[in-house]
Amino acid sequence: MTDAMSSAPVTTAIPTVSARELPEETLLVLVVNSGSSSLKYQVRELTLDGEDAPDPVVTKGLVERIGVPGSGVADHAAALAHVEEEIAAVIGDRRLAAAGHRVVHGGERFHAPALVTNEVIRAIERLAPLAPLHNPAAAQGLRAVAQRWPDLPQVVVFDTSFHQSMPREAWQYALPDELYTEHGIRRYGFHGTSHDLVTGLAARHLGMERRAFDGVILHLGNGASATAIRHGRSIDTSMGYTPLAGLVMGTRSGDVDPSIITHLITTHGYTAEQVDTLLNKESGLLGLSGNADMRQVLEAAEAGHRASRQALKIASYRLAKYIGAYHVAVGGAKAIVFTAGIGENSAPFRARVLDRLEPLGVTYDPARNMERGDDPRVISADASAIPVLVVPTDEEMAISQLAHTVVEREQAWPLQD
Ligand code: ADP
Repeated sequence: MTDAMSSAPVTTAIPTVSARELPEETLLVLVVNSGSSSLKYQVRELTLDGEDAPDPVVTKGLVERIGVPGSGVADHAAALAHVEEEIAAVIGDRRLAAAGHRVVHGGERFHAPALVTNEVIRAIERLAPLAPLHNPAAAQGLRAVAQRWPDLPQVVVFDTSFHQSMPREAWQYALPDELYTEHGIRRYGFHGTSHDLVTGLAARHLGMERRAFDGVILHLGNGASATAIRHGRSIDTSMGYTPLAGLVMGTRSGDVDPSIITHLITTHGYTAEQVDTLLNKESGLLGLSGNADMRQVLEAAEAGHRASRQALKIASYRLAKYIGAYHVAVGGAKAIVFTAGIGENSAPFRARVLDRLEPLGVTYDPARNMERGDDPRVISADASAIPVLVVPTDEEMAISQLAHTVVEREQAWPLQD
């Protein structure tokens, strides 16, 4: 570790509203995303009905290098102490009304967000074998918040739970059944909070009831996944037992022939750990082009860099193939929806994907595709057989609103003094 690194600030708070501007008739909800060595948070302001207040992000921040020697942040409880100070500086005497936590893995136990009890925290810890880096950190975050704010109702929102509606033919691998029954090896799927939110927003934008919505949602960020939606619910998704499966991502390979792994180990001397690093951290756009970031890959391709052009071809081809497959899975998609960093912002990548969907009768309007904005919008041509939408996602917003819904349902609001 360099001196520059060890003296770097471990916390970054970005206050966006000053305390006196906060009206009393709103609710403040803390949103927490605990990684293995980081903790991201937002304090969001909601109306009593659980809608976003006009400027909903009151403050947000990030604590990094938790548990790293010399960082001054020994564990998630210590991180929360920093967060509490940062929050107090912004909200003054106002009290938090609830906390919502993102948890990566809810296994088969959690089909929906849940109010946190000791039993729920233990259940999240028991699921650690499925998400060894993430679930223990989330459990620590939950305990740390409970310690800091003992009366605060907490809600957990899982990346997996939206996909628990998948039918067995979509989630079961063609492996001996004991692998599922004894080890829980099956498709779980991830990014569920985003796929769920975007499904609802897309249906609303098209003037459809959610339960009438059949379509394909493409969440394209550093991690990327496609989800097949039928009657407003997830019936299949491209990520699997872990978030490594499916699409070409920033640094993850997505689908590969599983025999490559054994081959690398038995013939080329890789350790299991090296293969894991290769597939998760050194593959995808990075492995193909030298850049994990879509913007840079597009710029390099534009400048004539061959490997970057090829990376875009592979990524867009893979994605188009999934869209075709999910068009069949949902019984005919009524919408194709792009979201997350690349899906929302990268018109050139969307164009590359949509150009491949001509056999489905999909055509897009180049001017609409170039438009930018924070609201859901249609980018397909009027004559397109399937409307194509861009729908911005906001997982923190979704988590805060889900926390409100659950606390309201369970009547668990803290007593005001
Ligand atoms: P995460 O999965 O970490 O939440 P994001 O959803 O923020 O990631 O997506 C990050 C990706 O979005 C990066 O590949 C980045 O290059 C891409 N991205 C963001 N803005 C643009 C843009 N204007 N054009 C192209 N790609 C973009």
